[in-house]
Amino acid sequence: MSKANNPLNDPARRSPETQLVHGGTQRTAFNETSDALFLNSGYSYPSSDHAEKLFMGEIPGAHNYSRFANPTVDVFQERMALLEGAEAARGFASGMAAVTNAVMSQVKAGDHIVASRALFGGCRYVVEDFMPRWGVSTTLVDGRDPENFARAMQPNTRLVFIETPTNPTLELVDIKAVADIAHAHGAVLVVDNVFATALWQKPLELGADLVTYSATKHIDGQGRVLGGVVLGSKKLIEGDVHTLLRQTGATLSAFNAWVLMKGLETFPLRVRQMTDSAAKIVAALDGHAKIGRVVYPHLKSHPQYDLAKRQMQTGSTLIALDVEGGQEAAFKLCDSLSVILISNNLGDARSLITHPRTTTHQRLTEEVRLETGVTPGLVRLSVGLEASDDLIADLLYGLDQI
Ligand SMILES: *Cc1c(COP(=O)(O)O)cnc(C)c1O
Repeated sequence: MSKANNPLNDPARRSPETQLVHGGTQRTAFNETSDALFLNSGYSYPSSDHAEKLFMGEIPGAHNYSRFANPTVDVFQERMALLEGAEAARGFASGMAAVTNAVMSQVKAGDHIVASRALFGGCRYVVEDFMPRWGVSTTLVDGRDPENFARAMQPNTRLVFIETPTNPTLELVDIKAVADIAHAHGAVLVVDNVFATALWQKPLELGADLVTYSATKHIDGQGRVLGGVVLGSKKLIEGDVHTLLRQTGATLSAFNAWVLMKGLETFPLRVRQMTDSAAKIVAALDGHAKIGRVVYPHLKSHPQYDLAKRQMQTGSTLIALDVEGGQEAAFKLCDSLSVILISNNLGDARSLITHPRTTTHQRLTEEVRLETGVTPGLVRLSVGLEASDDLIADLLYGLDQI
């Protein structure tokens, strides 16, 4: 039969768009087109002997409990691994569950972590507050200069954690340079790749050992469910990452995995459209009299523009604006918008604007905020799927009200 010889039977020959619709599909006997949703917690076995072999790990691909093995979650993980170019992936209940697993699975008491200081709030909390409670010390560094990582490394440094671009000021960390430093000291590099997305930045190709996502963001991208993913080599994922997930249970639900797969089908379309609109908004607002600074990785005035061009294919979907007139002016802008909603979420079909100083970064001291660029006038815009002309008109109207 000629279908058997079709070169596209080889997943490696398929484009990401195709993988995100078909990758890892496991059809049931009903031959459903959409992916099957297995809402089941447990599995029964044909015999005691079979159960014994299964628990001994002698039956490959077998399922024994949905805390760590569910067919719907399997397909989602396989599709994410294909998108990322990773050997393996594990789904989690949320992005924070994924980040916490990626960090905790690789360290033990007495170890040391180096992390960039400009991090998503929850990630900073995990490395700065929680880990020291369990005997793992942390050094936070200004991530813009790789030398700062090199200087912070200690003989017991086991893990380096970075986010690039950072939330909310879109500073960059040189993934390749930091990977080399981490590996020279025998440490693993974990990259939170939410802001750049799997479409525009490939940390594993640049030397990262583990990549994490909040799937809540661009992967669902439609404001419906929480989810997280950790990706990397089979050795790390099927080893410590899987064991910690299995034994502590921050499991991605099958229902959420199914919703996230629906998100993956349109992920490239949505992220491309949102990125195109972001570039148009940046062009329209750059130089506006009421904005001190437009921050966008692929804007020439970005202090790390060359690095942005090198490690990110585009500037992605987020923009930071430093509004002239501080917090009062920033509030005026946000409160005058009609289409763009005030929300701290991101990567959504709806354009969302947030004032980090009074929301996501409220917990930090003013000194720490200013150190990471969170000024009183700073707002972060997550560009959605609305018409870019409407978004530009909305923002120009808001700026006029200041
Ligand atoms: C949202 C986010 C997280 C946490 O993800 P949740 O799904 O909200 O738990 C982690 N890192 C970054 C960069 C994020 O934007």
